[in-house]
Amino acid sequence: YLLIYSLSRHLKDQTDYSTEDVTKLFNTLDEKEDLKDLINLIRQANYGKLKDVFKALLNTPSDTRPGLNLTSLASHMLLTGVVLWSLQPNSVDLPYLRLGALFHDIGKLTNPQHHVVEGREIVKSLMECTENSKIREVLGKVIEMIEKHHGEKGLLTISDQVAASTDRLMDILEKDNELKNCYDKGFECAGSKEEYERLTRKAVKILKESQLSKLLEGDPQSYIYYIDFPSVQKFIESFSDLKTSAMASFFIDFSVSTLPIIALDKELGGKTKIPIEALLSGYGGHSLLVVRRDILPDKVKETISKIEVLKTFDVKLNIYYAPFMVNDNVISYKELWEGYLSKQMASRFKIDFEERIYSYGLHKMCRSCGVRPVRKDHLNDEIGRDLCDVCYNMTKLGEKRAYNARAMAKYFLEGKGISVNEEERAMDAMEFIAGEGPGKEEKRYLALIYFDGNSMGTKFKSLTFSEYVDKSMFVDFSIKDAYYDTLTMMDDETIKRILVGTMYLGGDEGLILMPSGSALDFTCNFLKKITEKSKLTAKSGVLVIDPTHPIQFAIPVTKRLTEDAKIEEKNSIGVLTITSGVITPDSYEELKDIGDEKKLLRVKNPAEGGICELVKLDKATASDAYKTLEGKLLSNYEDSLDLLIRTLRQRVKDKSKSSSEVLQMILSDTSKNYFPILDYYYALKSLKVGGKLD
Ligand SMILES: [Zn+2]
Repeated sequence: YLLIYSLSRHLKDQTDYSTEDVTKLFNTLDEKEDLKDLINLIRQANYGKLKDVFKALLNTPSDTRPGLNLTSLASHMLLTGVVLWSLQPNSVDLPYLRLGALFHDIGKLTNPQHHVVEGREIVKSLMECTENSKIREVLGKVIEMIEKHHGEKGLLTISDQVAASTDRLMDILEKDNELKNCYDKGFECAGSKEEYERLTRKAVKILKESQLSKLLEGDPQSYIYYIDFPSVQKFIESFSDLKTSAMASFFIDFSVSTLPIIALDKELGGKTKIPIEALLSGYGGHSLLVVRRDILPDKVKETISKIEVLKTFDVKLNIYYAPFMVNDNVISYKELWEGYLSKQMASRFKIDFEERIYSYGLHKMCRSCGVRPVRKDHLNDEIGRDLCDVCYNMTKLGEKRAYNARAMAKYFLEGKGISVNEEERAMDAMEFIAGEGPGKEEKRYLALIYFDGNSMGTKFKSLTFSEYVDKSMFVDFSIKDAYYDTLTMMDDETIKRILVGTMYLGGDEGLILMPSGSALDFTCNFLKKITEKSKLTAKSGVLVIDPTHPIQFAIPVTKRLTEDAKIEEKNSIGVLTITSGVITPDSYEELKDIGDEKKLLRVKNPAEGGICELVKLDKATASDAYKTLEGKLLSNYEDSLDLLIRTLRQRVKDKSKSSSEVLQMILSDTSKNYFPILDYYYALKSLKVGGKLD
C-alpha cells in the first residue's frame, strides 16, 4: 500500500484519500489494481536483478576515502534525497531535482574513480529506452546535475556533503597527518589493499574515540519524527482468530508509515509531497519519518492524532521528535537518541496514561477481545454478531487483506510459480498452515516461530545518521534474503504455507507460522543463514500447538520462549510442543518448572549441533528415539537423577539399536546444570506431530 500510494498520489486528487473512513481509504487504494499488477510484474520478472542491484548498492561505499567509507551508496542516495528536500522549505517539488539526488552517485557502482562520466552513461542508456519527450527532458536535467555535482556549490553539492556529514567527519579525521596526507593524494592514497585497510581501521578508531561537533543552534530545516504504535502486543493479542490477528499486525505497520504520510500530504496542500525516502524505517510498530519545516512539530502531531481511521480502532500513536537538519547539518545518531527521543519517551510514560473505562456488566462482551461491548448494529450481521466495533472493523478489513491477500497472491521462487488454490483458501487458516488440506486426512499441528536479533541496541550505535540508516537497511535486507534462501530449501507444499503464515518480517524480528514438521529444520537453517549474511545472531522460539488452539495465547508464549532461549552472542532455539489443552503465559511459567529444580527443560539450545542435528537423522532412527523417550523414559521417573540413570541404562541396552544414537546425543549435551532430555523430546515431538516420524 505504501508503494501504491506513493505512485498513485501523482495520478489522483489528494482529496480522494480519506483518512476519515477506513473502508473508503482502502477502497481508494485498492482501485489502483493496475498499479498493483504493474508492481508485481516488475517484481516477478526482475526479482533476481533487483536483488543484485540492491546488494551492490549496500556493498559499495558512498565515499572511498578511509573513514568516509563507512556508509553505503544505498543509504547515501536516500539521505541525499531527504536532505535536498529539507533544503528548500516551502517550495514546489521538481521531480528532476529529486531524481538527480537519488542518481548523482550511481556511477560509483561500476567505477568510483570516474563515477561522474559513468553516471552520465548510465542515465543516457536509460534515456535511450524511451521516446517520451517529457521523461527524456527530466533525464537530461539529471545528467546535467550529475556532471555538475562536484563543481559549483549547487543544491545537490550541498545535499551530497550534508547527507554524508563530510564536513563534520573531516574536522575530526584531518587532524591526523597521515590521513590528511592520504586525502590530499586522492585515489593514489593507499598503495595496496593492506594499506587501505590499515588506514580505514585507523580512521574508524579515531572516529570511535571522538564525538561529532554538536548540532548548531538555529531554526531546524526539517524535523525527524519517531512514530510509535503503543502496546503492539496487547493490540494483536486482543483478536482471537488468525485472520483478524494478521490484519491487526498489518494495520500496525500501516498506521505508522503509510497513514501519517497520507495525512501529512493532505496538510501540505499539494505544494510538496512527503518523499518516500523520508520514511527512514518503518517496521515493528514504529517508524522514523522526516518532515520539512513547512509543517512544524505541533501541527504534525495534531495532524496525525486527528486521523479518524486510528480512532476507529481506539489507537493513539505516540509521537516524539527532534530537529533533523539545522544549519546544513544532519543530527547524529547519538544526539537523536540521547539528546531527544529517550528523554521524551521517559517523561511520556509518566504523564500520559489513559485507559478507557467501559460499563462492565451492562453490555454483552465482544466474543473476540472480551474487553469492549458488542455493538447492536452488528447483531444481524453474520460476521458482526457478538463483536465490538473495533473487532468488527478489523475482521471486515481482513476479508481482503493480510492473510487473505497473501493467500490470493502468486509467488515466484527462483522462477517457479507458487500459489494457494481456491479450496485451500476456503479452509480454516490455522488448519491450512498446519499442513492439512483437501485430500489430506491426517491431523497436523502448527508451529509458531518467533525470532529476534541479539543486542541490537549496541550493534546499531552509530556515529552519523547515515551509518544508522545503512545498518538498519542492511539488517532488514539480510534477514529477508536469508528467509528467501531458506524457503528455497523447503518443498512446495510447505513453502506456500510458510508464505501465507508469515505474519511479519521486518528489521531484526519476525513471526512465522508453518507446519510443525518443518519448523525445526526451517529455524535451524534460517538462523544459520542470517549469521552468514549479516554476522548477527538471533534468539528464537518454536511453539507447536493444535490448529484449534487460540492464537492470542500462543503468540505471547512464543515470545517468552524466545526470551528464555537467549544465549549471548549465539544463535539459539527453544522448542515446546503442546498437543493437548491450552497454553497461556501463566501455564507456560509453570511448565518451565517441570522436573525437579528445573533441570530437564533447558530451552537455551544453541542452533548449531544439539537439537538441530535431529532433523538430519533418518526417519527410522528418529522414530525409534521418540518412542523410547516417550514410552520408556519419560512415562515414569522419580527425579532428574533417576531419569539420567535410566537413560544411561537404556543406551547400553539399545546399543545396537538406532535410538541409542539419540540417547548418546542427549547424554553428551548434558552438563552439570542440565539434563536436557525434554528439549530433545519436544523437538522430536514437533517432527512426530508434523508427520515426519513413523
Ligand atoms: Zn472486540
